[in-house]
Parts: sequence; C-alpha cells; structure tokens
Amino acid sequence: MGYTGKILEIDLTHASHEVTDLDMELARRFIGGKGLGAALLYRMIKKGTDPLGPHNPLLFVTGPLTGTMAPTSGRWCVVTKSPLTGLFLDSHAGGYFGTELKKAGYDVIMIKGRSKAPVYISIKDKGVEIKDAGELRGKGTVETVRVLRRVHNDPKLRIASIGPAGENLVRFAMIAVDSHEQKERGGQAGRGGAGAVMGSKNLKAVAVKGTGKIEYYRRDGFIESARKANQKVLDSPVTELRRKYGTTRIVKIMNEFGILPTNNFNTTIFEHAENISGEHMIEAIVIGDKACFNCPLRCGKQSLVKEGKYKGTEVEGPEYELLALMGSNCGITNVEAVAKGAYMVDDLGLDGISTGVVISFAMDCYQYGALSRDELFGYEGNFGNEELYFELINAIAYRKGIGNILAEGVRTASEKIGKGSEEYAMHVKGMELPGYDPRGSFGMGLAYATSDRGACHQRAWTVFNEIFADPPTNHSIIGKAGLVKDTQDERAAAFSLVLCDFVPIDVEDFVNLINASTGFGYSKEEYLRCGERIWNLTRLFNIREGISRKDDNLPARLQDPLPEGPSKGCAITDEMLDSMLDEYYEYRGWTRDGIPGQEKLKELGLEEYDERL
Ligand code: SF4
Repeated sequence: MGYTGKILEIDLTHASHEVTDLDMELARRFIGGKGLGAALLYRMIKKGTDPLGPHNPLLFVTGPLTGTMAPTSGRWCVVTKSPLTGLFLDSHAGGYFGTELKKAGYDVIMIKGRSKAPVYISIKDKGVEIKDAGELRGKGTVETVRVLRRVHNDPKLRIASIGPAGENLVRFAMIAVDSHEQKERGGQAGRGGAGAVMGSKNLKAVAVKGTGKIEYYRRDGFIESARKANQKVLDSPVTELRRKYGTTRIVKIMNEFGILPTNNFNTTIFEHAENISGEHMIEAIVIGDKACFNCPLRCGKQSLVKEGKYKGTEVEGPEYELLALMGSNCGITNVEAVAKGAYMVDDLGLDGISTGVVISFAMDCYQYGALSRDELFGYEGNFGNEELYFELINAIAYRKGIGNILAEGVRTASEKIGKGSEEYAMHVKGMELPGYDPRGSFGMGLAYATSDRGACHQRAWTVFNEIFADPPTNHSIIGKAGLVKDTQDERAAAFSLVLCDFVPIDVEDFVNLINASTGFGYSKEEYLRCGERIWNLTRLFNIREGISRKDDNLPARLQDPLPEGPSKGCAITDEMLDSMLDEYYEYRGWTRDGIPGQEKLKELGLEEYDERL
C-alpha cells in the first residue's frame, strides 16, 4: 500500500515494454524516489557506463506519498547517471506528472536502450505506446506540450519533455514538466543533465494519463495524518511569505548578508539587487500564483512583462535560483531581462542554474582575456551585456560556436579554453554552483563539497540556520560537519518520500504519513536511518566511479577573500575545508579518504553494495 507495486520497463532499442513487480523489501529499505532509484540504478549499470550511451537507464520514480492527500505530494524524481558529473543523479520536479504516473498504476518507469528514430511514450493506464515523434523534433518544450495535448485531445495530459538542448546533448539539459501555459504549476527536473540522457535515447517526451486510485494501508489513519500535516502547513508562519513571494524574497536577504553570487562569484554585493528582488518582481511582472498537485503553499508565480523591450514575455517564475544565477551572477540588472532568459531556458530545455554559471564564466573569460570578442559573436563580454546573454543561451542550446564548448559544462569548458580559466570555473565535481556563495555561509561550502550530485543547495541548505543563529555562525566552520551530515540524511529520506523541500512539517509528520500509507511501522530513528542508508549508497555509487576525498573540493576562487560587504575578507581555504571534512568523515563513520567504513555499511545493511568484499 502507498505503492502500486509495479514498474513499467520500456526498452527503446526493441520498441517493447513489460510490467514487473516492485521488490517491496527494496521499497522498505530505500522508501521511493531518490532512494529507490539509487538502489535500482546501482544494480543496473557498471562502473564507467557512458551516461549518454544506451546502457544508462533513465528512471522516473515516485514515492509512497506521491499523489496522496499529503501536502506537496505532487513531486517525483528522475534518477540516472549524470552526463554533467559522471556520477549519481537524482533530479526532482513538481507539477502533476508524478500524480498522474501513480494513478496510471506505476511506481517507476524504467527507460532503457535507444530508439533509432525520435519517439515519445504515451501511457494511458495499462495502454503503453511508443510513438513516432518526427514532427516534434527541434521544437521547444512549450510547443511540444501544445502539440501533444492537441493530438491526444486532452488539455490535462501531463507531459515530461525535452527541448533542443536535450536533443543536442547539452550536458546540463533539463526535462520540462508541462509548460507555463496552464493554470497549474509545471516545473523542471533541472539539474545534472537528465534531459541529455533523454535526448541520447531519441526520446522527446513522455505523456501520461492515469485514472486509477491510490490505496492506503490505513485509509482513516492516513486521512487524519494528512489533515494534520496540511493544517500545520496552513498555520506555519512561513506559509504566508512563501505564498506571497515564492523563493524570490531571498534575493534581498542574500544581498544583505553578503551571500548573493554576483559577476561569476567575483563579489556578493549586487548594486541592482532591488531591481531583481522578489518585492520588485511582484509589483512589476507577477500576474498570478500557481501550485503543484495538492500544495497549500502555492509558491509558484506566473509572470508577464507588460512593457519595454521584453514586453509580452510570459513565464512561470523566475524563482530565486534563476534571479541569482541568471541575474546578479551575469550582472543582469532588470527582472524583465531575467524573465526573458528564464522563458528561453525553459523552452529550450536548459537548467537555469548551470546556464547562468557558464554564461557568467564566459563573461569572466572575456575580462581575463581568455575569450575574445570574436569568440563571443562580436559582442563585448562585459557582465550585464543583455545581447550577449541571450545570444549565449541560444548558442549553448544549439551548440553554435563557443556555445558548443560551454554546452559541455563549466568544468570541461574551462579545460578546453585553458589560459587559467580553471581558476574561476565555479563547479564541484562538474556541477555548477547554485545561488549561495559559501564565503558568506561556510556550511554551504561543506554542503557543496560533499553533495552526492556535485554543487547542490538542496542536500543541506544551512544558510538560514547560520545567518539567523544568535550570534550568527555563517563565518564559522565550527559545528558544520554535524549540521551538514544530519541535514543530508534527513533530506535523503524526504527526497525519497517524495515531498517538496519547502513543506514546513516535522520528521514526526513524515513518519506518521509513511506509516499510515505503507504500514511499514517505522520509528523516527528507523526512518532517519533510511536517509543515512540512502546517502551512503549514493556515496558507494560515486566511489565506484572513482571519486574520493580529493573530489570533495571547492572552486579555487573561494580561496580569494571577498572584496566587500558583510562577508568582506572571508574565504574558505584548503585548511578550513580539510578541517571540516575530517570532522564530517568521522561523524559519518567514513575513512579519512571519504570511504564508508565496513562497520558503518554493516550497521546500515549495505554490505552487499560494498565492492571491496
Ligand atoms: S511549495 Fe511550491 S514547489 Fe513545492 S510543491 Fe508547493 S507549489 Fe510546488
């Protein structure tokens, strides 16, 4: 219960499919979403599998709460080997797609092989078809959704699709969920290049319609737990702010605390922060609120540029990460231009965080003489040059000129461009940094360095915990190992349920919900132990691919003291990171080289995944 108990396995090479049973013991140990996906992926591929080859599977995974009355239960995730990092990837999205998939009768879609010609998958409950997508080739995600809904005569068909970036194997291409042209929220499985994996399979879209019901272990108990959890969300003081601003309110706060990435992390103070702030955005362009399935928070915004050069641009968002990485970090001084950029990345199918970082990197290359005006399509490469910014977004998606190099991600691009540009390529393990400069939040430094999918803010978001402590601890390394480790484990469990990062309920609420849904009877400790097990499993996956302590690193630029603002003079040196890592590994029960110890693996029941044995 809580699960459908079924996996839909699709083989694109042979244009066939079958339905298999979910191993319920695996579900009990790894929950769903991230954890279940990791356990399945670990066994499906070998070390060194090409992420863009036919042997890398693409898993769409729901959780035991997906599609239920639990708050924010519309979320689902994609699990695969990342073409950006070469490591484990779970990438989460909202909207209604996950709910529809569960109602169609599947916990997981497992997509294997590669089609010879472009196709899309149509799932209508038990009816599964692999259909020709020749006419969709080259289309943006917005038009793809329009066409498929028209062809199927169903305006509520839920669609996960890729744009030209995914087709062109841009290593940070994303998978779009529906589009902004609907009153419900869509979203993206943005990070890590799952869209390129989809493109490598010649798979343009997956369209789902489900009409089944979700069953619970204890229906009455579940309804009561869900009612309490929803009420807690409504009563939470953060709900009103989240509804009003979404995540955009953070722009000003990050700027005030010296954390907002600006001009490729050259500084953390942006003199035009007001222009891209949530407060201004609400006044200037927001025209409505949107929510994912069963979400009382309704954090999504619909925006429309009403005047000026970008008049007529309509888009979902932009959210904080885009305002930071495609705004201040590229020196873009107005929210209208960021909205236009956000529309382009959504439609072309690019991850906005990575796109912002590679564009700001190219602009920095120009300042340092590593790229010339000719290489930048004849434009001056100054931060804030909007013409260049839009040109580069297109060039990356279509791999034109320098865009072909930038499409590989900032790590590979810096290696190809050379001339010292590696020093200011802002990534960890190949994934571009999100919107928090660790020099203003030292905990984020450790969180990025140890995250299982490269630089990620969602594995352990320590920022508010640090800046709103009394006294603030954001410029201290003390206590960060425990904070990061505990948050990573707790989030690994929550990302396996799969619920939204923003839902303001407690671990006890999660446990009540999962027990009433599945009958697993977890204690709080057992539930959190699942999170720790999942975190150790993704570490084992990455170790098998060759990573160790040397890869738990930060970009060289973070050793340069910040030049201004509240974080002026702050840096994260190798010695500071080493000290945090020593403590972190010890706390985790890992060796000094960052390898899970055999005792820890035994304690977590992961011995079968230990390839040393
Ligand atoms: S809080 Fe926002 S992102 Fe999360 S489920 Fe609700 S609407 Fe979706």
